[in-house]
Amino acid sequence: MASPRIAVIGAGIGGLTTAVALAREGVRCTVFEREAALPVAGGGIQLSPNATAVLHRLGLAAALTGAVRPVARELRRWRDNEVIGRLELGRAAEIRYGAPYCTMRRAALCRALFDAARRAQGDDAIRFRRRCAGVEHRGDGVVVRFDDGSEQRADAVIGADGINSVVGARLRAGPVRYSGHSVYRAVCPADRVPWLSVPQRVVVWLGPGRHCVTYPIDGGRTLNLVATVPEPMPPRAIREVSGSELLAAYAGWHPAVRGLFAVAGRFDHHGLFDRPVLPAWQRGRVAVLGDAAHPMLPFAAQGAAQAIEDAEALARCVPEPDGFARYEAARRARVERIAALARDGLRDHHLADGAEQRLRDDRLARVGPADLDWLYQDGHRPAARVAR
Ligand SMILES: Cc1cc2nc3c(=O)[nH]c(=O)nc-3n(C[C@H](O)[C@H](O)[C@H](O)COP(=O)(O)OP(=O)(O)OC[C@H]3O[C@@H](n4cnc5c(N)ncnc54)[C@H](O)[C@@H]3O)c2cc1C
Repeated sequence: MASPRIAVIGAGIGGLTTAVALAREGVRCTVFEREAALPVAGGGIQLSPNATAVLHRLGLAAALTGAVRPVARELRRWRDNEVIGRLELGRAAEIRYGAPYCTMRRAALCRALFDAARRAQGDDAIRFRRRCAGVEHRGDGVVVRFDDGSEQRADAVIGADGINSVVGARLRAGPVRYSGHSVYRAVCPADRVPWLSVPQRVVVWLGPGRHCVTYPIDGGRTLNLVATVPEPMPPRAIREVSGSELLAAYAGWHPAVRGLFAVAGRFDHHGLFDRPVLPAWQRGRVAVLGDAAHPMLPFAAQGAAQAIEDAEALARCVPEPDGFARYEAARRARVERIAALARDGLRDHHLADGAEQRLRDDRLARVGPADLDWLYQDGHRPAARVAR
């Protein structure tokens, strides 16, 4: 594909990173986003070194300027708050991986990616209120159809349109699966939770049927909080609830966790879904990345990280013959391993107290940096050439 003009569908973390990465390869693109604007609200995101290494390489280190670099990730027990396992992050991770482990506001990351994408591709390169309704090969190009009846011709289309991808629907996407769990997400001022604020850590409490994660954002002034709860049916839509609903769901848990819920006050509540990794990520002049290709449960904190890795790998492959096929060949095995790890978390994080839980805790206590090198080391591999 020589100097193609690409249509990217979706201005999430994956789509915006793709726009920046394509510019570095000298490829022009336009991003079409269904919403009217970038999200301004919302909580935090963890960005592991495999993702921040890509952002650094793409010239996006400034996007991480205000991010927190937590000193460690601790796994703790639900009832007594005892530490099960601890992984040093901070300086240790940065030295080991050449890039930091960061936590930050999701909206701040999107804003920084958006600004960088506009600088790289032009002010007009990101179009809001453009909802893709379908894509089809026509002649020697692809036509994107929008829900207002308009069309856009492109040399190729990259679907970065999330778990319910319209572009992915062309690629035999399997059904969206409800995990049987919902999440409650909130933020709260860190100074109201002094037992957790210093030193700045990612803390994960594991307990029967549920778990809870917190980490600092906004330069450490705020704590982000995600509590997972079993729920036979997902809430019909994102709804706002008070902390008391969550306190009931976490009866018997240690005051370090329950106190956090009491301070947070209000939560967004929504279901957790994934989908089997798509059997094909590309066909002809159409490819998908990020959640559009492999929406995963959040238990490995890798969905956005993998979208960022995809974006770089795909952009590098675009100018090559068989570019999209080479991208899939380069990325699939790693992504499938990570998606399986995330799905394992459904059971592993939620064991009832007993023999199996004790074995898990022994295993987690022994996890050291070397066990996570495969995950956190820079995920980019030069793309393998595949047969036409
Ligand atoms: C509770 C929770 C916590 C998480 N925590 C982490 C974490 O700490 N670290 C991490 O790496 N990942 C995390 N993730 C996963 C991460 O949020 C996703 O994997 C990531 O946002 C995927 O990015 P994306 O760009 O592929 O898709 P999305 O973020 O879904 O973006 C898709 C974009 O496409 C747009 N769009 C959709 N359809 C259309 C259409 N038809 N036409 C035009 N535009 C369209 C959408 O409006 C959106 O802007 C978490 C997920 C959850 C649920």
